[in-house]
Amino acid sequence: MKEITASEFEAEVVKGGKVLLDFYSTECPPCEAIAPKLEGLEKLFGEEVKFMKIFRQGNRDLSDKLAVKGSPTLLFLEDGKEVCGRLSGGVKRSEVVRELRHLMDKKDIQTIMDSVEPTVTHTDVAILGAGPGGLTAGLYLCQAKIDTTLIDIALPGGNVSTTHMVSNYPGFIDPQPGYLLSHNMSEQTKKCGTTYKVAVDVTQVDLDKKEIVIDEFETIKAKKIIIATGTSPNRIGIPGELEYKGNGISYCATCDAKYFHDKEVVVIGGGNSAIEEADFISKFASKITIIHQFDKLQANKVAQEKAFNNPKIEFKFEHEPRAFKKEGDKMVVEVEDLKTKKVETLKIDGIFVFTGQKPNLDLFDNALDLDQWGYIKTNEDMETNIEGVYAVGDVGSKKYRQITTAIADGTIAAIAITKEIDN
Ligand SMILES: Cc1cc2nc3c(=O)[nH]c(=O)nc-3n(C[C@H](O)[C@H](O)[C@H](O)COP(=O)(O)OP(=O)(O)OC[C@H]3O[C@@H](n4cnc5c(N)ncnc54)[C@H](O)[C@@H]3O)c2cc1C
Repeated sequence: MKEITASEFEAEVVKGGKVLLDFYSTECPPCEAIAPKLEGLEKLFGEEVKFMKIFRQGNRDLSDKLAVKGSPTLLFLEDGKEVCGRLSGGVKRSEVVRELRHLMDKKDIQTIMDSVEPTVTHTDVAILGAGPGGLTAGLYLCQAKIDTTLIDIALPGGNVSTTHMVSNYPGFIDPQPGYLLSHNMSEQTKKCGTTYKVAVDVTQVDLDKKEIVIDEFETIKAKKIIIATGTSPNRIGIPGELEYKGNGISYCATCDAKYFHDKEVVVIGGGNSAIEEADFISKFASKITIIHQFDKLQANKVAQEKAFNNPKIEFKFEHEPRAFKKEGDKMVVEVEDLKTKKVETLKIDGIFVFTGQKPNLDLFDNALDLDQWGYIKTNEDMETNIEGVYAVGDVGSKKYRQITTAIADGTIAAIAITKEIDN
């Protein structure tokens, strides 16, 4: 991709016709993740659209002028004018292709995409999921000189990357920001030499054949597969939840608490996540009402004490939300008192939901043995009922789901595989 500077912007972009411009930075994992995808797309669409990149820190005045606030940020321009929204963060190849339709005829894009030759890549071990479990397995395998490919639909880090502070991960005297802990885990595994394919679409997985298709054209054939896809937040399943998700309802305090400075919010749940994240939200919000279905909290005692001593936090025990609504700028929660059956209405600014997690298994056929809660059963080597397929971390059947237990699983699976693969 051609690299330009601010002084060339006028000639190359403003007078340059159709341009995709990537504002990138150094030491930026999402920039590294998008770079090979853009190079591949340039080969396909380079005759119609000019693919260019510009170093954000080295061209700060232009970045500020164009209000580019993060890296990477992809701008789609025609004669210097942006033709659609920007893409930033963990950008997928499919998202870039989708936005190119603003610069090219949709049919032409499809014709080009249809002409893409499928490719096949071979690896010893393919790991699905780059949270603590997958990253640890990747690290051990890489250090054992086993060719390993780590695949994630998002950027590496898993649930830890969106946790505000982690205070129970050994080796650190003070609590660590979750994003930093997961960043360090990921960089350690990457530095060892593990191949990363992140922010990709995982379109097909055949566990028997050990084949994974990503971005619709690349098939990764492995000798072993480790499933480390973790969990996603449970939805409550009441009216308004889907409608206002991301628009008044959040599942991530680290991501969204900052938008509720001096505002009132409701937190739903009473386990560790709900109580610890409510404490974090209280740094911003003026009042937090915790709605919990039971008569006491399930969080650990330290977190409970902190919450009970926090003057901004109030509790509604034995209550359940029945519907979420919106009135102007305000969110409305209809809450039922489980004892009296009376329904009251709370008008607040935002809602955070922390009502547990469910395993990410949508991609797999039903050949995997699951426990009664839908988590993958394994033996003591973390191998599933399908030979050569392992499951580690939160996606596996176990009693306690923590970072330390996920990395323990990753360690066990990697060592077991190392003993089986003879390189
Ligand atoms: C709000 C919150 C706070 C927490 N706080 C703590 C704490 O303080 N201390 C602690 O020890 N634990 C904490 N936990 C638990 C901890 O985060 C998990 O136990 C740990 O992250 C599990 O790691 P994992 O690798 O199994 O899965 P995850 O961290 O869930 O990572 C799974 C990865 O798989 C990817 N993925 C999903 N589907 C696919 C697919 N189809 N193909 C490819 N990739 C896929 C995801 O994008 C993700 O990157 C917290 C959890 C939450 C939700």
